[in-house]
Amino acid sequence: MRVGILGGGQLGRMLALAGYPLGLTFRFLDPSPEACAGQVGELRVGAYGDEEALKGFAEGLDLVTYEFENVPVGAARFLAQNLPVFPPPEALEVAQDRLREKAFMRGLGVPTPAFREVDTPSGLEEALAQVGLPALLKTRRGGYDGKGQALVRTQEEAEAAFWALGGEGLILEAFVPFTREVSLLAVRGRTGEVAFYPLVENHHREGILRLSLAPAPGLTPTLQARAEAYARKALEALGYVGVLALEFFQVGEELLFNEMAPRVHNSGHWTLEGAETSQFANHLRAILGLPLGSTAPRGYSAMVNLIGLKPSFAKVLAVEGAHLHWYGKAVRPGRKVGHITLRRESPEALAKDLPRLLALAEPSRV
Ligand code: AMP
Repeated sequence: MRVGILGGGQLGRMLALAGYPLGLTFRFLDPSPEACAGQVGELRVGAYGDEEALKGFAEGLDLVTYEFENVPVGAARFLAQNLPVFPPPEALEVAQDRLREKAFMRGLGVPTPAFREVDTPSGLEEALAQVGLPALLKTRRGGYDGKGQALVRTQEEAEAAFWALGGEGLILEAFVPFTREVSLLAVRGRTGEVAFYPLVENHHREGILRLSLAPAPGLTPTLQARAEAYARKALEALGYVGVLALEFFQVGEELLFNEMAPRVHNSGHWTLEGAETSQFANHLRAILGLPLGSTAPRGYSAMVNLIGLKPSFAKVLAVEGAHLHWYGKAVRPGRKVGHITLRRESPEALAKDLPRLLALAEPSRV
């Protein structure tokens, strides 16, 4: 089977690495000739919106998936005329727009922070009156890793952010004083079979994920069940196939939906060593119509992102039980270039050894 992946970043690369044991081969489409998945599979360089590039990419493929959610929906639909494309392009369409995804989840009865659409100065006034301050003003589309958003505490800050973010196509969201941020990796197969990984606790800085702890410390069955019930609704409403990542704000024992990604997700990288079946393997099983694998955790895991720096591999690997994943990308400030997973048999053992790895991943903060 030859699998086509729209996007050639590290997620595509890790999908391919998970697919080789099943005898799959991979072709990537990415606008950059440097795309790091090209080191492990065939890379076609082209724009996602270019029909000729899409036709060349599709030739000889058995099915298509994506590792990047800002692929134009038109490209996914174009490919879907001739090939199975999973997850369905509708999921891509919903997830690309912060307003649509929140409205969609709310429509399913899933709690979200208060939010309003903002397209004009008077719309901003109305939204502020309804949502209140402090709030987050965000672009509906295209933002990632904390880009395209501003925390606003006053009317003046809101007006300045409104113009700085382009003056239209925005969403105002109530600022949530969350207890912590968690995410759920859910997977649904072609037969409708579903599986869920345990909730993960995520720590961001400057809008970028730095650390995930899995399972989320102190995770209760009630919280897990609540997250799964919300995810199940989304999976079923979208006729979803593949891995879907849902990010929530936890407030006490409540969960407020923040956003979704219709793909494998950074907060699921721990599953490579920390779960019976990785998110990458399960995404491939799902889209191929194979039985899903167990999502049970193996002990307690931490995933530390390597952002804009290359640590000493020898020092990382000298930490017993540490696994290094280097993506083969050029190191640039703020860029995700790799991650490390650490696995232990107890949360206490994990907490004891994690600081060593954090010091290697973020030496400037020690
Ligand atoms: P996002 O790109 O929407 O996931 O936002 C990036 C990060 O900004 C989140 O992981 C949170 O840490 C923070 N953030 C976003 N929206 C809110 C909100 N409504 N309330 C509090 N913090 C937020």
